[in-house]
Amino acid sequence: MKEVILCKYGEVILKGANRSDFEAKMMKELRRRAKRIGSFSIYYAQSTVFIEPDDEESCELIDEMFEQAKHVFGFVGITKAAVCEKNMDKILEIVKDYIPRKLLGYKTFKAMAKRSDKRFPLGSPEIAGEVGAAVLEATGGRIKVDLKDPEITVCVEIREKYAYIHAGQEKGAGGIPYASSGRGLLLLSGGIDSPVAGFMMAKRGVQLEAIHFESFPYTSERAKEKVLELAKILTDYTMRIRVHVISLTHIQELIRDNCDEDYFTLLLRRYMMAISVKLAHDYDCDAIITGESLGQVASQTMKAINVTNSLSDIPVYRPLIGMDKEEIIAISRKIGTYETSVLPYEDCCTVFTPRHPRTRPELEKVLEEERKLDFDALVEETYATRQAIVVKLFGGTINETERSIGDNNE
Ligand code: ATP
Ligand code: MG
Repeated sequence: MKEVILCKYGEVILKGANRSDFEAKMMKELRRRAKRIGSFSIYYAQSTVFIEPDDEESCELIDEMFEQAKHVFGFVGITKAAVCEKNMDKILEIVKDYIPRKLLGYKTFKAMAKRSDKRFPLGSPEIAGEVGAAVLEATGGRIKVDLKDPEITVCVEIREKYAYIHAGQEKGAGGIPYASSGRGLLLLSGGIDSPVAGFMMAKRGVQLEAIHFESFPYTSERAKEKVLELAKILTDYTMRIRVHVISLTHIQELIRDNCDEDYFTLLLRRYMMAISVKLAHDYDCDAIITGESLGQVASQTMKAINVTNSLSDIPVYRPLIGMDKEEIIAISRKIGTYETSVLPYEDCCTVFTPRHPRTRPELEKVLEEERKLDFDALVEETYATRQAIVVKLFGGTINETERSIGDNNE
């Protein structure tokens, strides 16, 4: 009996003329992962991508491939299925052999059938009825039928060439294919919010480039490693992320020595924004992404956000803007960044923090403080010191440090 993985499309189904571009991207993502694991054939038919092991060894690796497929955006359902000849006796034989082990630990099930090949002699309700009876027989009454609210669903799909038998389809990553929307620059800190913001935009097809600001030695080497670790977790979904690391130490010391303390954070955030905009332009990013959530801290009031936003000539996406911390934490747990995010390391924003930060800053007053330093020159000079580190899902981390600006190749 051969087992394959079925990946079911999400909203890509709704795409019109350009649907094949989206399909091609999803297949490419699966293939890039598959070749790291074993030998698999990947093809699509009827709004489903099939992942089929090519040899015995790859059959053994199907669980690993399944885990990978769960992280590919564009699919809403992923399941392993037994492949069967389109013959009812054979189907029932395989149901009895394959399905009971999938139902261990469950108390109720429902059987259903999908018949896209209308030439098959039985209708869906009849197939489901026979499959249900076969399951009951094979499990010796350990599990009961519940048509309304089953814990698990056993499904037989009668497709073009074969029938596919499965139970317990899992959720896919959802969204639209990675890198189908363009590129975005994620401002990645070591906190809870920014990795979640990056994940949310990646799910909407944005290919991520990341920038992290440090203030060594006020922030530690370990704080930077934490951020690279967060990037690494995001590569479960993106496969690779380049993180540009830039030190703001010099700027922060100048601000501390020359400017009004109440404006420290706002001034710093304007430098962060200006440097990010510059990098976004150099690396072909059409948007900047931050983990800001309205009113969460002093620098995230409407007025404070406007003070930094006004510096950017490209859109700033803030996917968390209307979310509560609890909602953000729930996503960070789901994507696996939470445990790393809560490790206690300092961030450049917490170095020299004002005792009384301005929550309703006037842009004019901020600019007045800003003029005490040569803003443009500091942006240029700081930008030039950046390091680029490429974090990969398979394999380690490469310190790329500027082979060439704008080199976006794999
Ligand atoms: P997070 O949990 O993402 O750190 P936060 O609630 O701590 O967010 P802030 O520190 O005010 O909020 O940062 C707001 C946003 O600014 C972050 O979500 C992130 O996008 C960006 N940011 C903050 N610090 C840094 C940093 N050191 N490097 C890059 N981006 C940063
Ligand atoms: Mg932070």
